[in-house]
Amino acid sequence: MKKQFAVIGLGRFGAEVALTLAANNCDVIAVDKDEARVRELADRVALSVELDATDEKALREAGVQNVDVAVVSIGENIEASILVLMLLKDMGIKNIIAKAQSRMHGRILYQLGVRQVVYPERDMARKVARGLIMPEFMEHIELSPEYSIVELPAPDAFAGKSILDAKLRTDYGVTVIAIKKQGLDKGGKELWNINPLPSDKIQSGDTMVVLGANGDIERLRKISPE
Ligand code: ATP
Repeated sequence: MKKQFAVIGLGRFGAEVALTLAANNCDVIAVDKDEARVRELADRVALSVELDATDEKALREAGVQNVDVAVVSIGENIEASILVLMLLKDMGIKNIIAKAQSRMHGRILYQLGVRQVVYPERDMARKVARGLIMPEFMEHIELSPEYSIVELPAPDAFAGKSILDAKLRTDYGVTVIAIKKQGLDKGGKELWNINPLPSDKIQSGDTMVVLGANGDIERLRKISPE
């Protein structure tokens, strides 16, 4: 069965989330009180409904209580954002992601049990800045302000060594969660070793995906090739 999502608030952020989910074969209920925004998504998501999301009855009539994940993308009207969130929690939806427009807003959302708070502009700005400072970090996922998952080229010093012998955990405090080998397989696909064993070898030209504290990752980056 397709995964079911509700996206509440169809500004730039909410609309983009809804469209990306729908393009990836997910069932999306898109909700906004603005008729024009609802109309824009009408043919592109499973259900696009004009309603005031602070109205529990209207949300239930749209079937929002049945979704696996809800995304609350109401920024400016903090009161509406909080009210909607409480209604969704009351409906028993456990996995809720919400957009915040300020730190205080974000803190309130976390206190009320949101699983993930996003600050679209801040998050994107940080990603762009990090890309400028550390272009060798091909991909960077911030798990918390202190911990991240990053892709980086395997340092030459590790070439031919196993993950254990490279002492990635003991000396650098990071865990290797995947290794991408250089080149492609016969079918043209990338060669990934996901969840590698401690005995798996690192070769020059490999890309490592590591999880760890930002400071530890930074130390590793210093010995990675540019
Ligand atoms: P973005 O920055 O993502 O473009 P925005 O600038 O349009 O968003 P927001 O305040 O975040 O501003 O509003 C997002 C959307 O949420 C708007 O389309 C608005 O109509 C909708 N919205 C606000 N309150 C409610 C509500 N109570 N019920 C349904 N939709 C709402």
